[in-house]
Amino acid sequence: MATINDNYLKLKAGYLFPEIGRRVNAFAQANPDAKLIKLGIGDVTEPLPEACRTAMIKAVEEMGDRASFKGYGPEQGYTWLLEKIAAQDFQARGCEVDASEIFTSDGSKCDTGNILDIFGNNNIIAVTDPVYPVYVDTNVMAGNTGSANDKGEFEGLVYLPITAENNFTAEIPSQKVDLIYLCFPNNPTGAVATKEHLKAWVDYARAHGSIIFFDAAYEAYITDAELPHSIYEIEGARECAIEFRSFSKNAGFTGTRCAFTVVPKNLTAKAADGSDVELWKLWNRRQSTKFNGVSYIVQRGAEAVYSQEGQAQIKELISFYLENAEIIREKLTAAGLAVYGGVNAPYVWVQTPNGLSSWDFFDKLLHTCNVVGTPGSGFGAAGEGYFRISAFNSRENVEEAMKRITDRFTS
Ligand SMILES: *Cc1c(COP(=O)(O)O)cnc(C)c1O
Repeated sequence: MATINDNYLKLKAGYLFPEIGRRVNAFAQANPDAKLIKLGIGDVTEPLPEACRTAMIKAVEEMGDRASFKGYGPEQGYTWLLEKIAAQDFQARGCEVDASEIFTSDGSKCDTGNILDIFGNNNIIAVTDPVYPVYVDTNVMAGNTGSANDKGEFEGLVYLPITAENNFTAEIPSQKVDLIYLCFPNNPTGAVATKEHLKAWVDYARAHGSIIFFDAAYEAYITDAELPHSIYEIEGARECAIEFRSFSKNAGFTGTRCAFTVVPKNLTAKAADGSDVELWKLWNRRQSTKFNGVSYIVQRGAEAVYSQEGQAQIKELISFYLENAEIIREKLTAAGLAVYGGVNAPYVWVQTPNGLSSWDFFDKLLHTCNVVGTPGSGFGAAGEGYFRISAFNSRENVEEAMKRITDRFTS
């Protein structure tokens, strides 16, 4: 008799977005004339930069010619892409990252989950609360946790609260943890990490032999020159950190799919016999076995991000979303709400007014303004009392949604 991976039964059956969908559908059916504005899901809305499209069209044409046709490429990615990433994303910022330490993939969501393949099952794992749900669920699937309690917290995980009380920074734990997931600029709170804050994490990780998984999916939204874009801007990070990057949020590749992971060559973790093993070798083995590389066409599209036109076009795209975030911040503040994030990030994190629960505020916005956001409690217990509003939308929709909220909350 075939059996299943019972760990899947511990998962909170994809609770958040299906529940949002259920409530939105029920409302839409009862109010067919309501014009709903969705500021909930973390997906981009604006078209692909022209530089990327042009490069991909050219690549498609190359595929149609026997002489320039490409079959399987290197699993890690083509050197022409890896070298541009190394030079422009890292070396230009003073980070010592070599092209051979970069592995392209079809997404950071996949990479942050897949990375667990090369780690043991007895690690103590820390996540922030609230958190990008992928980090938690992939650990549940891998059998690294017990069951969830009523609040949705899994036994065996160490939760590091990020709330207004600690200025949305994950505090260094007093206990020893082995694997730490950090995401800055943060989804869902829009919070950022300073160099000092990341240095404290790097120092902690080096002192305890821990590994930091640094998710920098939103680094392109950093406008403050003092803030680090990469964890490798911190001295010693090569000895304790793996960094995840994606073209999803800087170049609108959510539907095109391309990301990359940096595993420094000197980075090690312990084998069962106590010896130090290079993680680069294991990840290379894992990717070469289970992954066959990003499509040639898409890699050409990603490469175009690093051209002069590409850089100008993604800058424009990011500025557009950041202006949306600024409008959201301004209008919600004027409406008397306490807002966080949204400055170096495309997410605004709102404190619910009058002590409303996240879901009560969700219902209130849905019913009175016909605006859909995301309840903070869906990202973790410490997200209760907060609400995420995404800046990924058209200017028209953002302005209209904010007008409705302002009218409702200031009258
Ligand atoms: C959007 C996002 C990513 C990017 O995921 P892809 O699979 O590359 O599209 C990674 N991490 C976080 C926290 C995100 O919000």
